[in-house]
Amino acid sequence: MPEGPLVRKFHHLVSPFVGQQVVKTGGSSKKLNPTSFQSLWLQDTQVHGKKLFLRFDPDEETVSLRNSPLSEPLRKGEQKNKARHHQEASDPSSRSLGGDSAVPSGDDGLQCLRGDTPAGGAERWLQVSFGLFGSIWVNEFSRAKKANKRGDWRDPIPRCFWHHPVLVLHFSGSGFLAFYNCQMAWRFSSPVVSPTSDILSEKFHRGQALEALGRELPVCYTLLDQRYFSGLGNIIKNEALFRARIHPLSPGSLLGLPRLEALVDHVVAFSADWLQGKFQGTQQHTQIYQKEQCPGGHQVVKESLGPPGGFQRLTWWCPQCQPRLSADEPKQVQPS
Ligand SMILES: [Zn+2]
Repeated sequence: MPEGPLVRKFHHLVSPFVGQQVVKTGGSSKKLNPTSFQSLWLQDTQVHGKKLFLRFDPDEETVSLRNSPLSEPLRKGEQKNKARHHQEASDPSSRSLGGDSAVPSGDDGLQCLRGDTPAGGAERWLQVSFGLFGSIWVNEFSRAKKANKRGDWRDPIPRCFWHHPVLVLHFSGSGFLAFYNCQMAWRFSSPVVSPTSDILSEKFHRGQALEALGRELPVCYTLLDQRYFSGLGNIIKNEALFRARIHPLSPGSLLGLPRLEALVDHVVAFSADWLQGKFQGTQQHTQIYQKEQCPGGHQVVKESLGPPGGFQRLTWWCPQCQPRLSADEPKQVQPS
C-alpha cells in the first residue's frame, strides 16, 4: 500500500517531466477525460502526505487560468460527465476494459479541500491518490507478472483491471507516465497541507503530534489521522507501535509523554528508513505487519481496529511485547 515514502518516490519519478508539454494521451479514466490533458504543460509537482499533486497549465509560461477556454469544459467534465472517455494510445496495453479503481480512498487529510470551487485565475492541480494499489510507471507499462491460461506470460494485453492505466501522458521529451489504480481529481487551489503534519518533512512538528496522541483515543486511531500524521499508513502504524512496545488500543492519555515520544521517534525513523530504502531499491523489513510471530517468537494477534463508524484497518500486535494497559495504571506526565 502506498504510504508516504512510496508517494515520495513517485514524486521523484515524475519530477523530470516538469517543464514538458503533453503531446499525446491515453488511459481509461471515468472521471477525467484523458484527452483534456492534451497540450497542457506540467509546471510543478508536490507531494503532501500520501497525495501527489501535479500542476498543469495551458501555456508554457502563464500561471493564471483566467479566461482560459479550457477551464469551463474541464469543470463540467469533472462534475457532470460520467460517461466513459476513451483515447487510445498507440500501445495496446492502454486499451480500455476497466476504468477507475473502485478501491476506497481511505485516509484523506485533504477532504476538507475537495469541495473547492474553481475560481478565476486559480492554479489547476491534479490531485493523485493511490488508494491501496495505485502506482505510476515511467516509460513502460505494467505487465502481467503471471502467465495467462495459455501459459503465455508475454501476453501484451493486460488481463486484470489493475493492468489498465487510468491515465497515460506522453510528453514532449518523448517519455511517458502511466497511472494505475490512482484516483484523480482536479483542484483549483494550491495543495495546502501543512508540512508540520508531514511525517517525512523536516518541519514535522513533534509537539503537535504528541498533543494529538495524548488524547483519550486509542493511539492506533490517532496515528492514522492524516491531520496530525500526514503520510502515515497502516504499515508504519503497526511497525511503530510494535517497536515502541505499545498496545494499539492504548488510550494516549494513559501512556505518558516518554512513551508517546518514543512512539513518534519510531514513526519518523521507520518512515525515513523506508524512504531511503525506496531510493536504494531495498525492501523495508517489517517485524509485525502481516506476521504470524513477532521477532521474539510470540504468536501475533490480528484484528480490524478503527473508530466506531470509521474505517477499520487490520492491525497486528504481540500481546506479550505490547501488553494492554490496565485502566488503573497510574497516570503519568501528560503531554502539554
Ligand atoms: Zn512478542
